[in-house]
Amino acid sequence: MKYDIAIIGAGIVGLSTAFHLSEKHGDLKIAVIDKFHTYAQGNTGKSAAGFRDVFSSDTSFKLSSSSIRFYDHVQKILGIDLGMKHVGYLFLMDNDSSVDVIQEIGKKTKIKEIDLDLLGDMGISTKVDDEIREAMGLEDIRNAYLALNAGIMEPDKIAAFYYQQCVNKKIDFFFDTTVQSLNLVPVRPINFPGEPFIWQDKFIKSINTNRGEIYADTFILATDVWTNLLTDPIGIDSHIRPKKRQLFKIKNDFISDVVGKNVLDTGSYPFTIFPKGVYIRPSPQEKTFWAGVADDIGRDFSFVEDPEAEPQFYTYNVHQVLQAYMKPFSSASVTGMWAGYYSYNTIDGNPYIFRSLNLIVATGTSGSGIMKGDAIGRIVAALYDGEEKAKLYDGMRINTADLGVKERKVEEERLVL
Ligand SMILES: Cc1cc2nc3c(=O)[nH]c(=O)nc-3n(C[C@H](O)[C@H](O)[C@H](O)COP(=O)(O)OP(=O)(O)OC[C@H]3O[C@@H](n4cnc5c(N)ncnc54)[C@H](O)[C@@H]3O)c2cc1C
Repeated sequence: MKYDIAIIGAGIVGLSTAFHLSEKHGDLKIAVIDKFHTYAQGNTGKSAAGFRDVFSSDTSFKLSSSSIRFYDHVQKILGIDLGMKHVGYLFLMDNDSSVDVIQEIGKKTKIKEIDLDLLGDMGISTKVDDEIREAMGLEDIRNAYLALNAGIMEPDKIAAFYYQQCVNKKIDFFFDTTVQSLNLVPVRPINFPGEPFIWQDKFIKSINTNRGEIYADTFILATDVWTNLLTDPIGIDSHIRPKKRQLFKIKNDFISDVVGKNVLDTGSYPFTIFPKGVYIRPSPQEKTFWAGVADDIGRDFSFVEDPEAEPQFYTYNVHQVLQAYMKPFSSASVTGMWAGYYSYNTIDGNPYIFRSLNLIVATGTSGSGIMKGDAIGRIVAALYDGEEKAKLYDGMRINTADLGVKERKVEEERLVL
């Protein structure tokens, strides 16, 4: 099997990449390979399914705002339902430095300050009980900001859109196909054991899979947190670390009642972020909230193939913060839970998109790969073509080298959730 391009990974990044490459090059033979039985079964299927263009770095802002605009176009103009609902992101602040960050971002996108009195109707207490303040170090909520170009979406529908486009363009999909290794060989082999030697020019000739060898001129790794497993053995660094993230579906009568309410004129309860990085994502159809947290120090970087959510993590961490600010959540029960990984760029929180030999790597989405997926696919396609700048959906341009390694030029993203 020989292709012009073989893309490994059929999550949002691999699918968007395949779509944009095929848009530019209808004549190329492209394959997408994934170990799962169908597309979007990796972290794309495990996300909190939120979107926002509220990011502190210009890079993340460009990637997200242009992707959101593309998804809106697909839904509103092409009439394909992607489950996009602009319910907003509500940031609840307990300190001045986070307020400064949000106000700075407010110069780029639509954010409005919310009167704290309105939060009472949403079940949110701005004052923390004294004993909780003492024991947990939680502080009162002093400001609330609602980001308007933000909300919830259905990643499986976005993935299905790209997948269908790719099928229409005759891209070959290989599911249930695990790539075991990248076959690094010398450009000019001398057929001597131990090749390739350090003095030989090298390239990736093929990939070894459980279903045989697949050859291509260019390989693209859209393998998210699994990237290191393929790049480490051949000495290419993907610069990411796995960070486990968990989501807990919670429910009680209060939640059933409030989750679909048009509390802030955004159609339903907004995606809400509490101090300490705890958040709730509304799921109006199920009448539940999904609770999670952007945990940091104290949680390790270990990796297992199929991570499980930890009920005790919810009980002793997430729930404690939630019930301090939302008394009606005290009686909520967990009706479902799951876990996945961020491919976490721990240096600047922005994706890595770079070329090494005939390999292109797109990873490091750091918890916001779906809301940036369209832009990432366009940048990979531009990098494949050797273009200096990638044109995003909204016409904004981004230097392809900026997201690379050697000439990387991005600011640190301070709003990784
Ligand atoms: C709990 C949680 C909450 C999140 N919340 C959000 C959110 O609200 N909004 C948002 O935008 N993002 C969110 N994210 C992040 C988002 O899910 C990821 O950034 C995004 O899914 C990355 O897409 P991807 O295509 O790179 O990776 P994946 O969807 O993980 O796709 C990678 C694919 O590569 C395949 N693969 C890997 N190795 C091999 C191999 N050796 N052989 C064959 N196939 C292979 C995998 O099977 C997988 O299908 C969240 C993530 C988690 C875990």
